[in-house]
Amino acid sequence: MPSEFDLIDRYFARKTPQAVLGPGDDCALLAPSPGMELAITTDMLVAGTHFFADTDPFQLGWKTLAVNVSDLAAMGAQPRWALLAGSLPAADESWIAAFAEGFFSCASRYAVDLIGGDTTRGPLNLCVTALGEVPSGRALRRDGARSGDDIWVSGRPGLAALGLAHLQGRTVLSGDLARLCVGALQKPVPRVELGITLQQRQLARSAIDVSDGLLADLGHIVERSVVDAEVFVAQLPSLSKGTDVSLARQCQLAGGDDYELVFTAAIDKRGELAGLAIELDLPLWRIGRMTEAKCNGEVRLIDEQGQPISVGWKGFDHFGQDQNQ
Ligand code: ADP
Ligand code: MG
Repeated sequence: MPSEFDLIDRYFARKTPQAVLGPGDDCALLAPSPGMELAITTDMLVAGTHFFADTDPFQLGWKTLAVNVSDLAAMGAQPRWALLAGSLPAADESWIAAFAEGFFSCASRYAVDLIGGDTTRGPLNLCVTALGEVPSGRALRRDGARSGDDIWVSGRPGLAALGLAHLQGRTVLSGDLARLCVGALQKPVPRVELGITLQQRQLARSAIDVSDGLLADLGHIVERSVVDAEVFVAQLPSLSKGTDVSLARQCQLAGGDDYELVFTAAIDKRGELAGLAIELDLPLWRIGRMTEAKCNGEVRLIDEQGQPISVGWKGFDHFGQDQNQ
């Protein structure tokens, strides 16, 4: 049976060119770049809550890091370092090897060095802390939106929640669509290039990544920025053909786990953002606008006739009464 230190050496101690000192000592040592602020985030993935315990370990390794990199992307930060704290039920080396491969494939894709962590025995639970850098004062925060801003979202929000519904037997998706949606759930793509470009070109005033649902996460911007939001159903990307329309819409507006970016921008940035979508080969949808705060941080969904629609579902909340997943 390998020891804790054998496992760390074999699977998690890799070169860390961006650190002064990587894994192996009591602490890692970092030298942040001059003129930059550190962006730091942590996210835990718990078996049975965030993923099925039998999830493919390679994809789980990718996702464990990717969800943290997504938070850095949402601030416009360049990902640089990560720590991995894992509680594992057993020293199952083939599982750990595949998990590490997935983790490091994400790490090398986004140039992240794994600089340390903690490895213990216990119920399967994975917690990453990710660190990035952003020029001082330039991070894309939740509190920067202004009344009159456009609201934008990247990609195809809702695919991951549709994939989850498919895996849970709540809907049946056809072959290609099932692969697309389950792929979005299990191997999400953090929008790093988008977040950094929005930051560098000063295109966005506020941003958040969609982890709990589009309307719920937009609600965090609205609350922090003290504005209201109107989302126009007619401007949402069209839903996947061949799926239950009301389920697909619920997934699109309230489904979690997509890791697309929602951001707000001044209306004079529309042309540049249309160009950026082409440059990044990533659709950017203008789905609404921010308005004066009349209703204390309300997100209103507006139908094709301009009337508000009330929806009975919310985003994911671990301690909420009204969970949709
Ligand atoms: P300490 O007891 O001083 O907290 P540990 O014995 O827990 O240190 O860990 C030894 C070294 O291995 C530390 O540098 C730690 O950061 C690193 N480490 C532990 N687990 C992991 C992991 N899963 N991935 C990367 N580094 C790890
Ligand atoms: Mg120590």
